[in-house]
Formats: sequence, structure tokens, C-alpha cells
Amino acid sequence: MTELREGQGAGRMVLISGPSGCGKSTIIQRLLSSPGVEFSVSATTRLMREGEVDGVDYHFLSKGEFRTKVEEGAFIEWAEVYGNLYGTLRAPMEAAIDAGRVFLVEIDVQGALQLRALGEDGVFVFIAPPSFEELQKRLVGRGTEGPEVVERRLKKAEDEYRERVKYDHVVVNDDLDKAVAEVRSLAGIAEEKS
Ligand code: 5GP
Repeated sequence: MTELREGQGAGRMVLISGPSGCGKSTIIQRLLSSPGVEFSVSATTRLMREGEVDGVDYHFLSKGEFRTKVEEGAFIEWAEVYGNLYGTLRAPMEAAIDAGRVFLVEIDVQGALQLRALGEDGVFVFIAPPSFEELQKRLVGRGTEGPEVVERRLKKAEDEYRERVKYDHVVVNDDLDKAVAEVRSLAGIAEEKS
């Protein structure tokens, strides 16, 4: 089922939220192999993790650089998440939509709801973990964060989960292939060419 109401084939923004460890990055990665799909590279003030590349995963900025961009109106939204600042840049979003591309935005719940409130046009998708036990397992298994951070992220996951009703769609990620296919259809992204 395709949920696009109008302008099928026209550029659009697709916003994807979900608790840490719900698998949203993996889903996004898979969708990016389709033609005409672009990822929104956010700006952030958090430290780069091992394996991340500046300009690919995020634009890594100092707090001062970030504030300057806020003053310039460069962000369609920005938020503080776990003590760091994150923002979605306006210019690449407008360029992608004008070029008829799907602009995928990975964003936390407060950012997505900010954009909703501003009347920003887009398909809002919430990725939910199959259960909180599973989410805990994934966060601990990932091993990139200490127990305190895992605890904080689980608490945030519970708070975010309550907000899922404000999204256009909720996709439960209990089977990766199924979840990818579901988001693909909701976002109006064509099948990969094989
Ligand atoms: P991480 O530091 O693990 O990459 O991301 C932490 C959180 O920041 C995630 O929930 C992610 O969705 C959120 N995030 C990433 N980019 C943005 C953004 O541009 N704006 C907002 N509001 N949140 C973002």
C-alpha cells in the first residue's frame, strides 16, 4: 500500500524516528541503495565515534559553529539530545525536494514533532522495537555505550514510544526485511533494481 496522497514521484521529505537500538539506521542504510533517495546529513556538536566520517555521518561542528548556524537560520529544526546539539540543514533539503528526490531525515522525536508543529510537509514514520527487552539487549550488545548511557537511552526510549501516536505511521522492526519493505512503501520509494 502506498500512502502518498499526491505528487507521486515528486520530491518529498521522509522523517524517521525511533529509540536508539530500534534499527532505524540499518533501515535507512538499506533504503539509500535505491535511486533517487538522499540522506539528510545533520550537524552535531557530539564527538565523532569510531568509523564515522565528517560530512557523511554528520557535519561535526563546535558549539560556537553550531550557534552561528542557528543565528543564520540554516536549520529547519535543531534540538539538544543527550547534552549535544543536533540540527537538520535547510539547504540540502530544499535542493533534494526541488530535484524530485526523497530526502530521508533521521531525527529524534522532539525534532520531528517540532517540524510537524511548523506544518512542514513530509511522511512521518516511527520505528518501534519489537519489545523493550529486545531493545535493552541490542543496546547492551552494541557495546558502544556504558551502562549509564544505556539506562538513559532506555528511559528516553520509553518516553519517545508514547509519542508514536503523533506520527503518520508506526513500523515495528521485528523482521528487518519486512520493516524495510514497509518503510519503502510508505515513503513511496521504488524497489531496488537488481
Ligand atoms: P546519535 O548521537 O546516536 O547519532 O543520535 C542521537 C539522537 O539524535 C538520535 O535519536 C537521532 O535521531 C537524533 N538526531 C540526529 N540528527 C538529528 C537532527 O538533525 N535533529 C534532531 N532533532 N535530532 C537528531
